[in-house]
Amino acid sequence: MIPSVGRECKWYPVCPMKYFYEAGKLDVHWIKEYCHGNWAACVRYRMEERGEPHPDNMLPDGTIDKRLS
Ligand code: SF4
Repeated sequence: MIPSVGRECKWYPVCPMKYFYEAGKLDVHWIKEYCHGNWAACVRYRMEERGEPHPDNMLPDGTIDKRLS
């Protein structure tokens, strides 16, 4: 499948970033830029595709945000 920018990421319904955003802990720019934008560039997405474990508090750019829990 060719990644299509603009559609929602297929992981969004189950992604911790959705949970953190809805809990008011994550700025909307992450959701706009990645989950509803260029999700193919998301580090979480890429690791998920490779079956590689990654912590729930890892942001789409690969940064760990220790405030998220
Ligand atoms: S954080 Fe990444 S994997 Fe999670 S929904 Fe957004 S784009 Fe998809």
